[in-house]
Amino acid sequence: MLDLNIEAFEGSCLAFANRDIILREDNSLLSYDDLMTIREHTECYDVFSEPEYGICAMGLKHSVADVSTDLPDGFKTMTLRLYLDDKSEEEKLRVSRAKALTEWLSKTRYCCRCGKPLKAHKSLTALCCDGCGEQIFPRIEPCIIVLVRRGNKILLARHVQRNQNIYACIAGFMEAGETVEQCVRREIKEETGITVKNVRYFDSQSWPYPSQLMLGFTAEYESGELSLQEDEISDAGWYDIDDCPATPPPGSIAYRLIETTKDKIRNM
Ligand SMILES: [Zn+2]
Repeated sequence: MLDLNIEAFEGSCLAFANRDIILREDNSLLSYDDLMTIREHTECYDVFSEPEYGICAMGLKHSVADVSTDLPDGFKTMTLRLYLDDKSEEEKLRVSRAKALTEWLSKTRYCCRCGKPLKAHKSLTALCCDGCGEQIFPRIEPCIIVLVRRGNKILLARHVQRNQNIYACIAGFMEAGETVEQCVRREIKEETGITVKNVRYFDSQSWPYPSQLMLGFTAEYESGELSLQEDEISDAGWYDIDDCPATPPPGSIAYRLIETTKDKIRNM
């Protein structure tokens, strides 16, 4: 359940600024007193806790560009993805959940049905409306991410909206009414013009930037020529596994999809 009126917390606390986590200079997590110190220096959303997950967290209102210059002495930022890379599954869940809830609470303040201010639910991690009884739960947006293989080559694409030096997998949001397999086939067809077969589930990853669940798949080329959707993909091609452009760094499901598939092709 949510506590939105917290005044103390025993365990380690979390603070986020956009895609970054705030740490002490020695890379350790914050105490409740640290949160209070940061609040005095920079604009923040309210602190909240969810005791059953060991979460006490807050979000900073700053953009990442501003935050490192605005933090009090003794604190620093690190990309959350880098921070989480070597953590246990349990800690990944705790921190990813805290990040997702921070995002959700920062933009969910009024009832979407009647417009009254929302309150914390008495027993669940949810917000509720005294006016109409609406209950609002944390939002999760399912997305697919897929690596397509054609013989011993893989399909890598440069996305218009992302880092232009990186070639990655095809990815996209699920549409209402779709199965995940339909979504995989549709996204590949829309973005690259090709048809795939043998769509197989790979693994998943929480991606709380702000609220995605990445569902990873592999697929095999079936037919068609590459024909790119220009507003989404700036370049794409079939790459030999030993001659690929720069791909996503460790810490993402894209990295694992690409590296696992390379290993599979090498061992064929
Ligand atoms: Zn309402």
